[in-house]
Amino acid sequence: MKNFKTSGADSSQNNKKSIHLKIHFMKKTILLILIGTLGISCSTQKIFTKADYDKVLPKYIQTITADELKTQLYIVASEEFEGRSTGEEGQKKAAEYIRDFYKKNEIASPPGEHVNDHFQHIPAGTFPRIKKDTENVMAFIKGSEKPDEILIVSAHYDHVGIKNGQIYFGADDDGSGTVAVMEIAKAFKQAEKDGYKPKRSILFLHVTGEEIGLLGSKFYADKQPVFPLENTIANLNTDMIGRVDEAHKDNPNYVYLIGSDMLSTDLHNLSEEVNKKYIGLDLDYKFNDVNDPNQFYYRSDHYNFAKNNIPVIFYFNGVHKDYHKPTDTPDKINYDMLAKRSQLIFATAWELANSENRPVVDKK
Ligand SMILES: [Zn+2]
Repeated sequence: MKNFKTSGADSSQNNKKSIHLKIHFMKKTILLILIGTLGISCSTQKIFTKADYDKVLPKYIQTITADELKTQLYIVASEEFEGRSTGEEGQKKAAEYIRDFYKKNEIASPPGEHVNDHFQHIPAGTFPRIKKDTENVMAFIKGSEKPDEILIVSAHYDHVGIKNGQIYFGADDDGSGTVAVMEIAKAFKQAEKDGYKPKRSILFLHVTGEEIGLLGSKFYADKQPVFPLENTIANLNTDMIGRVDEAHKDNPNYVYLIGSDMLSTDLHNLSEEVNKKYIGLDLDYKFNDVNDPNQFYYRSDHYNFAKNNIPVIFYFNGVHKDYHKPTDTPDKINYDMLAKRSQLIFATAWELANSENRPVVDKK
């Protein structure tokens, strides 16, 4: 009451005014309590624990849907992008489309001199098979606690273009991985907006030149790492995750994992646990062998990180009859499986970004 009295109410106040003041005071007290409560919840936001992050993860997993992936893939693997051959018009259009997606979703371009507005320029002649200028496309979410530690989630967006007048659409290879990375980034951005910023930084990397020798990722790793490779904690690479191969036609609930245990036991264990707890796919390790005759470990972009002792997981659905044919089209994708595999990669990335320690490299 003291404040009210000193701020003007004199001794001649009548009862009515006194009641009014009491009500006013009560309102103000309630307001202060409310502000206090909000203040407390604001300060908790800054110290979300790992348990808090685990608790909200299922909500963000659900934001990655078959419908959205399908909408995106019908664009990325459309006629307009002409099979996305490195350096050609179709690849440029695809690059623009991916960049626009990130701009629309307010996901930033990474900092530094090597990237200009989401594009890392690779000049013609950098490697003999780069005949025309081309570009990697990137987006970035900065970590809150360990911003210098980087997780890379990657997919190649180039394909083989037009041959003999036929468009090679590359819906599975690797339109599927391209749209997965886009939707994974969007899920991380949504979480960030809700206060769950990743503790480590995440680079969403769409590489070019894969089909002509893993050249976009080679350029990144060998010539122009946007972030120091020693600070790169892991690479989750996705190349062909929308189809079901012959071996799994009766049980499509699977994905092949390659590389998870080759450099880091921690990474392998984290990946297994995340899948068990949140997703429930059959993780098939059939091709997880450097001596496998298919040599898949060496055949996509993760290898340019693995060769630098960065732990990797390569997510893959296996080959099929439309592999590198004009018939690799978006109508043949199993969108429920594409969604579930994308969710697995997202959940694994979430755990890697938010875990106390980065995965230890304990194997060579
Ligand atoms: Zn390919």
